[in-house]
Amino acid sequence: MSFDSLGLSAELLRAVHEQGYNEPTPIQIKAIPLILEGRDIMAGAQTGTGKTAGFTLPLLQLLNSRPVDSNKRPVRALVLTPTRELAAQVEQSVITYGRHLPLNSAVIFGGVKINPQIDKLRRGVDILVATPGRLLDHARQRTVDLSKVEILVLDEADRMLDMGFIHDIRKIMAMLPVKSERQNLLFSATFSNEIKQLSHQLLNHPELVEVARRNAPIELIEQLAHPVDKNRKREILSHMIGAGNWRQVLVFTRTKHGANRLAKQLVMDGLSATAIHGNKSQAARTRALADFKKGSVRILVATDIAARGLDIDQLPHVVNFELPNVPEDYVHRIGRTGRAGNEGTAISLVSAEEQKLLRDIERLINREIPKQVLPGYETTGQARQEPAHRAENGRQGDRRNGRSRNSGNNNQPQGRNNNRHQNGRSQASKHQGQSAKPQARNPSPTRNGPVKPGFSSLADRFMGSD
Ligand code: AMP
Repeated sequence: MSFDSLGLSAELLRAVHEQGYNEPTPIQIKAIPLILEGRDIMAGAQTGTGKTAGFTLPLLQLLNSRPVDSNKRPVRALVLTPTRELAAQVEQSVITYGRHLPLNSAVIFGGVKINPQIDKLRRGVDILVATPGRLLDHARQRTVDLSKVEILVLDEADRMLDMGFIHDIRKIMAMLPVKSERQNLLFSATFSNEIKQLSHQLLNHPELVEVARRNAPIELIEQLAHPVDKNRKREILSHMIGAGNWRQVLVFTRTKHGANRLAKQLVMDGLSATAIHGNKSQAARTRALADFKKGSVRILVATDIAARGLDIDQLPHVVNFELPNVPEDYVHRIGRTGRAGNEGTAISLVSAEEQKLLRDIERLINREIPKQVLPGYETTGQARQEPAHRAENGRQGDRRNGRSRNSGNNNQPQGRNNNRHQNGRSQASKHQGQSAKPQARNPSPTRNGPVKPGFSSLADRFMGSD
């Protein structure tokens, strides 16, 4: 299937071609023709599937094909996103794909000065990308007029609800033309009852668009869980990064404070790291992301707020320093790797008290995450009960693939690992790059095992019992 057959105009095809895209992704194949027909859609799609182009391309085409009836250029398309980073990225896509069209766009979000945004809005904006809070600030100050919106996009709607934006969204809806007079596009990775309710209020007879099942991108991601002692996590993380010579790692913590503390500790371990979370100023967040993207910072420690919307090409490693409380967040976190067809590894450091969270995640994704005990970092219980190289599922997977975890660059006899464990940190660091290096790229049952469908169809999820 080529982009040519989707009904897009020459200007848009040119922009797509300039981006180097050879063929549309599944969500683009399904969503673009429907949106061009003027249909409302309810799409189940995660970031990483190409969904932004999936709605941006037809949106640009529709606006361009309809003449504007005033010189004021009212906002005709509104895209709401949960986070500032995602808003910035979506607007960047609007600019990129719309570069050969005479349409204007703007992005507005909090944490930065409002006046430049007001100036921009005053000059006229066709497509506005916004986070709900700052958009309402503008509405209160009457610096934005939403009464002419023709197309509304709710991107990552589930995340918006998770972040408590439902009241803001309702207020914004009240400022738009009635739903039958606008086209509505809703994108969500999950379909809770709240999302279903919202969609009833928002959408006119939506076409359901199901692309890859929610867990399909996970097939590209090698997942691994290391049972570890909570108080050794930082040491293990430093070790894995150093010994594995990982150049770009996104690490998730549960709290902002935890992210700050971990970034500081990693720096003290001699690794370049920075934190990104909601308490940082927008300038600091933008800088942290830019430094990480260009490789001048090796480790980005993030909270879940940063999980969505970060689009970093070919991010090879994601580490869950702590598991998220909400299982869905695990899927979003690890979705930062394995993007756009690239492979990646997602490693979770799981302490005893997080076992239940791990089981909840496994239930959600409907597969078991291979567990590997890290030699030299056995938990207190394991060290007493098990031989040093016991790797629950991982060992089986390695054997099946004709490899032992100790093959390759790990030449240590098993007994040494026990010694290392007994001697704790200093011994472990001494062997950095040798025995305790986790075999992150080992073939695992995840990649080779059967892929079970994790979810019923989108239609089931969406239309199911309410
Ligand atoms: P998204 O799911 O919108 O966050 O997009 C994920 C990544 O896929 C972005 O880096 C896009 O530039 C890229 N992308 C979008 N559409 C295509 C395509 N048709 N071919 C290759 N890459 C794409």
